[in-house]
Parts: sequence; structure tokens; C-alpha cells
Amino acid sequence: MGALYRFRCNQCDYEFIGSGERDRGFFSVTDTFECTTCEILFDATVKSCMGDFDDDNSDIYSEPVANDAPLAWQIVEVRCPKCKEMWPLKTWSAEHDGHCPHNACSGIMQNIALHSMWD
Ligand SMILES: [Zn+2]
Ligand SMILES: [Zn+2]
Repeated sequence: MGALYRFRCNQCDYEFIGSGERDRGFFSVTDTFECTTCEILFDATVKSCMGDFDDDNSDIYSEPVANDAPLAWQIVEVRCPKCKEMWPLKTWSAEHDGHCPHNACSGIMQNIALHSMWD
């Protein structure tokens, strides 16, 4: 199960709903990105699972396995939902950094509530 949280900047009140870090559901792995052009945060699917697999302790961070294996993760190309570009994107982690995406703002994005669960 993955969890979505509501984050709010403690200075400019920018809000973002997402996992805030790398997360996974049963059929996809998501990561949180910052677009340095649009100054937004968003969650995007970085891997999706093709086919059936057991939700055991398989290592989701390893490279995708060969096509004939039962567990086949496909890397998904991530683009900003607003400018559709890839190059301004940086991964963003609430835990390790948490800075507000607005360049003029030095605030910190604070996790203020659990928003929903997904799978
Ligand atoms: Zn801010
Ligand atoms: Zn953008």
C-alpha cells in the first residue's frame, strides 16, 4: 500500500498532495519530483509492473528483470505534467530535504495530514 500525504509550505502556503518520497503500490512504484521550471511538486509513476507477480519481498529497487520472468517492471519516462519536459526534474524527498519548490521561498514543506491510501 502507498500513502498520500498533504504537504504545506510553512512560509508561502503552497500545497501538494503526494507520497513525498519513493513509494509503492501493488502494481506501480512512484517517486516525488520537483520541476525547477514550474516550481511545483508532483508524484509520478516511475515503474509499473507488467503481468502477475507475488507481492512478496521482491526487491523493487533492483533493475527490471528479463522479459520472460514472471516479475517484469517497466521503467516509465517521467515528464512534468505542466511543461512536459524531463530535464528540469529532480527527485524530491520530504524526509531528506523538504524544501519548498518556489525558488523565491525558503520555506519547508510540512506533512500536515494523511490524505489517502492507494494500491
Ligand atoms: Zn514556499
Ligand atoms: Zn515543469
